[in-house]
Amino acid sequence: MSDVKAPLRCVVLGCGVVGTEVVRRLLRHDADLAARAGAEIELAGIGVRSTQTPRDEVVPSELLSEDLETLVDSADIVVELIGGVEPAKSLILRALRRGASVVTANKALLAEAGPELQEAADAHGGSLLYEAAVAGAVPVVRGIRESLAGDRITKILGIVNGTTNYILDQMTTTGADFDTALADAQELGYAEADPTADIDGFDAGAKAAILASLAFHTRVYASDVPTEGIREITADDIASAKATGNIVKLLAIAESVNGAIAVRVHPALVPADHPLATVSEAYNAVFIEAEAAGTLMFYGPGAGGAPTAAAVLGDIVDVARGQVTGGRAPSDSTYAMLPIIDSGLVPNRYHMRLRVADRPGVLSEIATVVANHGVSIETVRQTPGEEGKAGLIIVTYSAPQAALDATLTDLRVLGAVEEVVSVMRVEGN
Ligand code: NAP
Repeated sequence: MSDVKAPLRCVVLGCGVVGTEVVRRLLRHDADLAARAGAEIELAGIGVRSTQTPRDEVVPSELLSEDLETLVDSADIVVELIGGVEPAKSLILRALRRGASVVTANKALLAEAGPELQEAADAHGGSLLYEAAVAGAVPVVRGIRESLAGDRITKILGIVNGTTNYILDQMTTTGADFDTALADAQELGYAEADPTADIDGFDAGAKAAILASLAFHTRVYASDVPTEGIREITADDIASAKATGNIVKLLAIAESVNGAIAVRVHPALVPADHPLATVSEAYNAVFIEAEAAGTLMFYGPGAGGAPTAAAVLGDIVDVARGQVTGGRAPSDSTYAMLPIIDSGLVPNRYHMRLRVADRPGVLSEIATVVANHGVSIETVRQTPGEEGKAGLIIVTYSAPQAALDATLTDLRVLGAVEEVVSVMRVEGN
């Protein structure tokens, strides 16, 4: 009896930045991929919006089609690289309901409808893999789903958006203001012409939902994740963070809190000696705290055609192996169904920047207001201000958001306080 397996028919939907690189490598490395998967992975079709769009010469024009449903109906493996919710969702569901396996990089769709897609895969025996949806080439989805399947994750801190990391890194290293750093990022192709999804934290919010779902075995949607972006961060905020030994990063945070989970995205100060502080330019990193493993950091290129294609190809080989052996790739579990609590209920450390009157007694007036709300001060640092004024940087110990809000309300009406210039959270220790 021959053990030669029939080729697996693979269709790629979307042939843009990522799709083109996936096609390139499926064709160029076909023999290696076949040897690793146990069967030939035949590129059977490429679905696009328009076959008239000029393409890289690597893309075989005879495989292009605008009839994506027909492509899906002929495939063993469907690779969705269109992005957005529709038509991606309908095409993925169509594939899964046929029992085909799906590989996708579509974080927006997974954060909105991941559980529905997983249920369709489970019901019909296919696999759904999406390593590329979070942090590009960085193998964090597989790391959490498989390598840490036996551990209990307590907290995730992720730099999962390269555009915002690039902007904050430029502001930190060159002293540039936000607008200059954004323009620079756009010129280099790190930021899109409409950068809203990145700089307002929505892209990181979708990834936070995916990571939290995996880590805490619970359904978490993008709508569960409050997001705060980096538009309001000033060069002075960055300088003030540096003055207290910190670096500003946009973090996707998911943590377990007394049997519940809290998920959020916001800029935060991390100590300059924390591993996340070393993540420069457009790189991504996910820092994980787990009961048995301790702390781990997954790091690498979070976007770009080739790095993202690497993650997609890993998933293709994985589902192909499953199809060859009659098994399925590991699926997500949501058995824990933990409640998702308001992140405001999670105590945080805060870094406050104030402009105050430069006269004796001011510090004790401010310390009294802070103490009245049960907030403890960790450090106070005075910085020079204009005539008759001084700058104060106060870092607090962990305090509930409500206590901090009440403190700020009272500080704003205190005669000694000219202005509460900015407030940022402190993470990472
Ligand atoms: P892209 O360059 O904009 O390419 C999108 C492709 O989808 C194009 O080939 C386009 O066809 C096709 N398409 C769009 N709408 C369609 C429709 N209604 N029907 C049929 N085809 C349609 O996108 P990308 O950057 O490769 O991203 C693809 C996916 O990967 C997204 O989910 C994205 O979030 C994810 N991702 C991207 C990166 C990255 O660095 N780019 C990183 C991680 C994850 P035409 O060519 O005919 O216009």
